[in-house]
Amino acid sequence: MKVIKFGGSSLADAAQIKKVCDIILSDPERRLVVVSAPGKRFKDDEKVTDMLIELADAAIKGTNTEDFINKIYNRYKSIADDLGIRTDIAEQIKDDIERRVSSSRTNKDRFTDLLKAAGEDNSAKLVAEYLRSNGHDAKYVNPKDAGLILSDEFGNARVLPKSYNKLARLAKSSSIMIFPGFFGYSETGEVVTFSRGGSDVTGAILAAAVNADIYENFTDVDSVFAANPNIVDDPMPIPMFSYEEMRELSYAGFNVLHEEALAPVYHKGITVNIKNTNNPDTPGTLIVPTNALTKEHKQFKVVGIAADKGFMTLHVEKYMMNREIGFGRRLLQILEDEGISYEHTPSGIDSISVIIREKYYNEDVFDKIIKSIYQDLLVDNVALEFGQAIVMVVGNGMTHSIGTLATATRALADANININMINQGSSEVSIMFGIDEDDASKSVKALYKAFFG
Ligand code: ASP
Repeated sequence: MKVIKFGGSSLADAAQIKKVCDIILSDPERRLVVVSAPGKRFKDDEKVTDMLIELADAAIKGTNTEDFINKIYNRYKSIADDLGIRTDIAEQIKDDIERRVSSSRTNKDRFTDLLKAAGEDNSAKLVAEYLRSNGHDAKYVNPKDAGLILSDEFGNARVLPKSYNKLARLAKSSSIMIFPGFFGYSETGEVVTFSRGGSDVTGAILAAAVNADIYENFTDVDSVFAANPNIVDDPMPIPMFSYEEMRELSYAGFNVLHEEALAPVYHKGITVNIKNTNNPDTPGTLIVPTNALTKEHKQFKVVGIAADKGFMTLHVEKYMMNREIGFGRRLLQILEDEGISYEHTPSGIDSISVIIREKYYNEDVFDKIIKSIYQDLLVDNVALEFGQAIVMVVGNGMTHSIGTLATATRALADANININMINQGSSEVSIMFGIDEDDASKSVKALYKAFFG
């Protein structure tokens, strides 16, 4: 059995949905299908998920929601009409959205998730209806009935391990199952979504649960490239990545696959194939366990360069820090007590830097954190630095190979880019540089040129 996921651009209009259905029907193994909400049809178009967030915001503010609801209804209606579906599915979708809007708004995050989930939920119902109207044995699967149970972290949920056994039963069905991506249910029965782009995660969870032969992830590019094509002209297509390489690149801003999407398939060793709905015969890019990498792939020291903005650094200095037992733990405990997640902790003899995503910054919380660091750890200096970017040079092949760091630092120096931090884990699958945010694109260009010519 293959699990197959289609992103928003593949569901954007009737023509795209017809391509999706042709792809599903071309292979009887493609039985478990995850769909996103309709995405952009053209560059400045709106995604249905964004329209739903707008609607939720309006409802929370108490603004009249009619126009917002109609805009979403019209989008589905035009898709249903262009597909020639004769039932009143678009009206059912409108009723569904109105029902959601009229539910309790006391918990804003809960309410917003309930609305966000409407995008994929109705997308799945529409695709199932279209396939059925053409005589195919297809059905919509409700994630609650299927057993997709998530943590109750609205907008940022994680799958609970107990989901897997129940979801495994989907493997027994001989129908084509259309499963909405992006959301599941909490243990108390609330709709909860993953973070944005989370339909990739749904697909990966299902692939792991049914032990799929492959997880095919259809998007709108022929391949994953060695660098972001919006930064580097005509970057090199990469036919294969290891899980680790892809994980590092997605972490640092490759948006082709959700950052958390590989975790469920990683332990089972299920191959992920990124493919193009508009060009389904091209082989795409494979993401595989390290031991399945081909010889050709292993020849590359570096397979990708990525940069992500929006980081800040908390610098802490204390003379003789290295002699203190438990200093790092106590520092991180202060962050933990305030619910702050950290990313990296490069350190020196008498200093340690904690790299944190800027989205967690809150003046009051950080004032409290800094006060506690001075009081509890008796440090000499604490400083915050904003506007940082992280640039990653990624490749399994750099393990034991000499000169990768030298090539990278030379390229950054030649481009007049100041390096604020260097971090290389012992797994040697990536080298990470902390630089000023304004240098992010320049650094990707410079590093790409140095490694790919
Ligand atoms: N529709 C959701 C989003 O735009 C989830 C997804 O497409 O994967 O983030």
